[in-house]
Amino acid sequence: MPKHKDRSGGQGHARPPLRREHSQGAAPPLQDAARAAASGSATPQMLTALQHGIGNAAVARMASGEQGKPKARQESPQARANKEFATKVQQKLRERGWVVEGSPATWGRMTAHKVSLPAGADTAGLKSGAAAYKAAPGNVVAPHSYRSEPEKQALRWIASITMKHLNAMRKPPVEVQAALHAGALYIAANTKDANEALKGLADGRTGKEFLDRLIKDNPADQAQLALYTGRVDRHTEKARTRLVGPPTSEYAPVFEALGKPVVVAAAGTDGRHAERRIAELAGETPQYIAGTKRPCVSCYMKLFSGTPDRPGPFWLSGAANQGVEEHESKDVDRLVALIDEEIGNTYATLKWQCVDKCDGEAEAGPGPSKKRRTTPLGSTVDYGSDSDSDTEGTVRTFRA
Ligand SMILES: [Zn+2]
Repeated sequence: MPKHKDRSGGQGHARPPLRREHSQGAAPPLQDAARAAASGSATPQMLTALQHGIGNAAVARMASGEQGKPKARQESPQARANKEFATKVQQKLRERGWVVEGSPATWGRMTAHKVSLPAGADTAGLKSGAAAYKAAPGNVVAPHSYRSEPEKQALRWIASITMKHLNAMRKPPVEVQAALHAGALYIAANTKDANEALKGLADGRTGKEFLDRLIKDNPADQAQLALYTGRVDRHTEKARTRLVGPPTSEYAPVFEALGKPVVVAAAGTDGRHAERRIAELAGETPQYIAGTKRPCVSCYMKLFSGTPDRPGPFWLSGAANQGVEEHESKDVDRLVALIDEEIGNTYATLKWQCVDKCDGEAEAGPGPSKKRRTTPLGSTVDYGSDSDSDTEGTVRTFRA
């Protein structure tokens, strides 16, 4: 396994881990890998481990990137400078009340969270994003319906189906975003490999042909992995029933775009965030853009500033901060001032775990369905927006 490089784009498998006390069934490392797979962010090693039933210790080593790492590695001047930069950013952000997770030694995976705690509490003892959101319920967005935004809803279905497909192709995209621009469907992933794969899948096809192919070729990986990826299955089913048939007025702009060749916004260095690729190619932030994760703080500042969108965490990685001049020049004071002044809060999405049955359409609403027994399972920085009727069921069964 290659040594860790900051190619995740600062999203995905480095997200705050779910808390152990919610675990059921399988031992934690395998379970974490399973969760990562369910949310589409598992590394290829995690997926291989899950498929082949590799022991938990091996999975833990893989998940932490330890395997194959040289025992003693000389630190390059660049690595040292990055670590110093990350240490200073961490300190300055903490002084302003941000919760910073991760170590400057692996700075590309560090995240920072800004939450509003109840009066009298402070962030000093909070070491992770998960702890921050647990302490600040107002920063955890409960499910609500997307029905009034059919364009965005359709783009989310398309993004999550594409994400699943790329994962099944062993080209983990980390993130997929889809947009409507100039009457066409735009789509992008974070990684170079995934964008190349996307270009192959698009290859002159119309949006409809592209989507049709993904739906028909829906990888049947759940059984192999003993996973339930309810959200993606629901999205696939909804796209199949609502976007692939005869056009409807509800999704008129989507149908129009699906009739034209799909545009893959592949340009940009490895790790560049998908929404930034799309906006760059489009020359503006498209009116309708959605994906599988919230915009990170840097993308929010670049693309969605002043909108009601709610940003996820700040990622310290270089990939997340391309075009952020204060980061590129390693100007700690200006960078910290910029993000702290621009960002009021960062958000996570509430995740529910179904205890009994979770089949069928989940109901929109701020809590668990009355029909199904569900329990809160912490929060996630996934799910590109404040939806949904589809957080429920995301992690239904991890009982191996
Ligand atoms: Zn971003």
